[in-house]
Amino acid sequence: MAKGKVYLVGAGPGDPKLITVRGLEALKRSDVVVFDRLAGPQLLNHAKPDAERIYVGKLPDRHTMKQEEINQLLVDLALQGKTVIRLKGGDPTVFGRVGEEAGLLQKYGIIYEIIPGITSAIAVPAYAGIPVTHRDMASSFSVITGHESPDKLDLSIYWDKVTNATGTLVFLMGVAKIAYISEQLIKHGRSPDTPVALVQWGTRAEQRTVVGTLADIDERVKAENLKPPAVIIVGDVVRQRETLSWIENKPLFGQRILITRARSQASELVAKIDDLGGETYEFPVIETKLPSSEEATKAIEEALGQAEAYDWVMLTSVNGVEYFFRWLDRYGVDIRRFHRAKFAAVGPKTAEALALRGIRADLLPESFRAESLLKSLEALIAPGQLALLPRGDLAREILPRELREHGVRTVEIDVYDTVLSAPRDLWLPEMLTNGEIHVITFTSSSTVVNLIEALRRLGVSDPVDALRNIEIACIGPVTAKTAEDQGLQVTIVPENYTIDGLVEALVERRRIAKGE
Ligand code: SAH
Repeated sequence: MAKGKVYLVGAGPGDPKLITVRGLEALKRSDVVVFDRLAGPQLLNHAKPDAERIYVGKLPDRHTMKQEEINQLLVDLALQGKTVIRLKGGDPTVFGRVGEEAGLLQKYGIIYEIIPGITSAIAVPAYAGIPVTHRDMASSFSVITGHESPDKLDLSIYWDKVTNATGTLVFLMGVAKIAYISEQLIKHGRSPDTPVALVQWGTRAEQRTVVGTLADIDERVKAENLKPPAVIIVGDVVRQRETLSWIENKPLFGQRILITRARSQASELVAKIDDLGGETYEFPVIETKLPSSEEATKAIEEALGQAEAYDWVMLTSVNGVEYFFRWLDRYGVDIRRFHRAKFAAVGPKTAEALALRGIRADLLPESFRAESLLKSLEALIAPGQLALLPRGDLAREILPRELREHGVRTVEIDVYDTVLSAPRDLWLPEMLTNGEIHVITFTSSSTVVNLIEALRRLGVSDPVDALRNIEIACIGPVTAKTAEDQGLQVTIVPENYTIDGLVEALVERRRIAKGE
């Protein structure tokens, strides 16, 4: 059998977007992903759906896999002919033991690549507003491990050199030894007034920074109960933070927000939250697909076959538009055959999706609920007219019902099905319990129902209870009603039932919570 290949890849410091383009390509291409907790779980979404995922970090019932075992695992997988990615936090060559992994691969003649990553030693200070060098303050920096055995740390020659070698000193794995580190630095000539910062969980929603001086940092860290992982930065550059603290001042900083929308539709919401400094956690619980039953496809074929007969085509969602056009294509129906029909679009996004296909909607309801479409329709529709309603299988009944009451004949076709997707996510249940998800966003009733079911499938016995202390944000009153019927306590509903409205409401809620 041909030997496989191993990519030894730096995943960056935590924010899943801080991986390199090359690293991401390797991830997308691999058959097996070997990873631990410092490489954020969200990155795994980029792996092939059927890629094997092997977690080698700590689990409640298991210790971290030993380094020798990981080395051997990589070799074994490659010998089976697989393309393997070993994802490591930060950069693989900075305290990442990549030498040992590569060394064994080399011995077995297995091809490997080392793909660098953004090391926490630089990125974490940067996210706290601390550049590790500065024209006037530090022209060099060192990255030092704090996790040495005590006797090794005691080598005075080591401390002597380290203390005065460079302007900025960056310690990784040093939180537990902060008292000893500051003592040594003072002893070997650094002023007790030297500024020090510890940044915990940098680039993630949990990012927290404690600032002090060599003289008092130990006390402050204790008082703030700061725990690993954290990066320690020693030197005048720490002062830069007073003016350069950039992400911490963004309105949604510190919030990890669960996105339950279908992945194909989530990008706008994700980008907006991201812009505002929030961290999104994608857990899509719905996906849409073409209906496959013969009955459904036959109904669509027939409905499209009489394209010339319609006075109206009414679209109520972006998905509705997209799937409608897919079916036109499937049955070879030219859109110009609807030449008698006017087009109605519920909501600006639906209208936009239509406009992208060269159709300007004749009718745009003022608000975004089906009810207001009816209001604006009343003047335009006439009894006896024929309306085509391409929609999803979960569409609400109100629009066709009211149309019929006005004497309009309707043809409803389910152009897409909404189905449950239950992502395999090992972490989410634990993250919910640990308070690591701060807000959940629901953009339709089916996202509510499906999240509860998806959590059940992940082994959460009482999903509603698991969501008890989390802010629940719903795009509009209908979704909110579904959530409340399920027993959830809805805390955020925008005035404007759009993605923009939802994001504004998240910001507003956060502002109030922070007492601003
Ligand atoms: N190869 C990694 C470092 C591994 S050593 C890199 O290049 O970043 C692990 C140490 O890295 C932790 O103890 C901590 O000091 C630091 N670290 C990694 N990610 C971090 C993060 N998001 N926030 C704070 N410290 C981090």
